[in-house]
Amino acid sequence: MSNWKKFTSEARIAYFSMEIGLSDDIPTYSGGLGILAGDTIKSAADLKVPMIAVTLISRKGYFRQKLGQDGSQQAFPVNWQPEAFMELLPVKTLVTIEGRDVKIQAWLFRVKSPTGGEVPVLFLDTDIPGNSGQDRHITDMLYGGDLEYRLSQEIVLGIGGARILEALGFNIRKYHMNEGHASLLTLELLERVRHPVEDTWDERASWETRQVIEQCVFTTHTPVAAGHDRFPYDMVHRMLGEMVPQPLLMELVGQNELNMTLLAMNLSGYVNGVAKKHGQVSQNLFPGFEIHAITNGIHSFTWASPYFVRLFDKYLPSWAHEPELLVRVDHIPAEEVLDAHLGAKAYLFHYIEETTGTRLDLDTLTIGFARRFATYKRGNLIFNDLQRLCSLGAGKLQLVFAGKAHPRDEPGKELIQKIFHHKEELKGRIEVVYLENYNMDVAFRLIPGVDLWLNTPVRPLEASGTSGMKAALNGVPNFSILDGWWIEGHIEGVTGWSIGPPATEIVPDFNHTAEDAGDLYDKLESIIIPMYYTDQAAWIQVMKNAIGKNAYYFNTHVMMRRYVTEAYIR
Ligand SMILES: *Cc1c(COP(=O)(O)O)cnc(C)c1O
Repeated sequence: MSNWKKFTSEARIAYFSMEIGLSDDIPTYSGGLGILAGDTIKSAADLKVPMIAVTLISRKGYFRQKLGQDGSQQAFPVNWQPEAFMELLPVKTLVTIEGRDVKIQAWLFRVKSPTGGEVPVLFLDTDIPGNSGQDRHITDMLYGGDLEYRLSQEIVLGIGGARILEALGFNIRKYHMNEGHASLLTLELLERVRHPVEDTWDERASWETRQVIEQCVFTTHTPVAAGHDRFPYDMVHRMLGEMVPQPLLMELVGQNELNMTLLAMNLSGYVNGVAKKHGQVSQNLFPGFEIHAITNGIHSFTWASPYFVRLFDKYLPSWAHEPELLVRVDHIPAEEVLDAHLGAKAYLFHYIEETTGTRLDLDTLTIGFARRFATYKRGNLIFNDLQRLCSLGAGKLQLVFAGKAHPRDEPGKELIQKIFHHKEELKGRIEVVYLENYNMDVAFRLIPGVDLWLNTPVRPLEASGTSGMKAALNGVPNFSILDGWWIEGHIEGVTGWSIGPPATEIVPDFNHTAEDAGDLYDKLESIIIPMYYTDQAAWIQVMKNAIGKNAYYFNTHVMMRRYVTEAYIR
């Protein structure tokens, strides 16, 4: 029974995201951006924020990763059945792509909170009889295909998404674009507003854009110009036609190409970066805009391991609804924090043995690193000087890695192979494990189960980072480059440790590898390894501080309350 209509009575925030990661069963995400979207929606449901989310069905997912003996990556489509989780709505809409009518349908998934809150999520789908063979595949592959494929996806997401909301009778009070992929929705909104009286072209255009600006909120996630989606005008013109007059479009986004980030910025009344530093970096990339910074978070209940859920329930009841209560972590006895952690560690090690055959040692300091294998994240920084690493860490360290490289990112794939190579070189001295197919399920086991969470990006390219927040919540201290959220969460020796110099750069600095690695080794050798093995009380206090001074704040409940008060209700 389709009773989506119950969601249409109240004015809602429409949250648009190319990817949304809600659970591993619904593989419509690739990494941090999608999981942030999923966590945001879950917090909105918990807090009863009237929201409706819109994304693509991605019938073949992102991809499933298989790794050869030498770490060579193979990518396979993920086949899944939307009908097992979602309800197909009986309303369709149309967009025009290259002059062809493309029909769009939507699957409804309900994110239900124990508080009684509920957020509907629409998954857009073009796999409909009547669409051309090519068009039926538009919503298949997340981040797959060429530039034209990407533009068709963004037409479906932005324009199709706005249209289906209208067709279903939703009443939207704000449109929130999570990254620039959805920003074509602003053109659809521009088409809808018409100045009531005939003025000069200029006055009318400026009145109309103001109406759209009032309705839109934009969050940018990318700290480099090259990372923003851009399409040549001739392609846009050919595929999209002339939705708004070309002169107005050029005024909004420049003369040469359609930059999706610029489009969103020019038509949003509130623009946000994902951490304080990223706000400044974006301000530098886009002078003339006012860029705010509401730092990202994680959905606490989703990312706490069962061991910590039990512990928090016992000592800090209602923490899941009010993660700020984690500030009172010192009420929890040290032994119980340690026990919960050892539970999570044993659970991970069991999984590692099952999947890789390697048996890790429960008493050895275990460092985790897992994220997308993009080269700027420098997954191999810890191997920069193998001799040094061995001399300080042989017999005292274990390393656990995971992560996918985008199938077309050759340097990213090579990075994975390099780690496999180092794994062989270090055999018998430092055990290195690489877990295949990093996804939400692997992250849920891996992050809470290591002792220290490592992040080594090139400053300032880690816009926020969220896996470190998942670690902190589970009492796993961060050991990271001062970038993204960690600039705000880090108190040296109290919540964890920094690597390298403070974050002063606002342009990428690729030339610090040796210094950063040197600092990493120095701190491991003189501070972290000694504390772990000889001062357990101090170590447990750092674990607690990660919870009480990081996790209490860096969560999507805090983030959502800020979005509501600072961006949505303005
Ligand atoms: C949390 C998470 C990410 C994001 O991690 P970053 O530290 O922000 O790179 C990516 N992938 C998965 C599966 C995650 O759970």
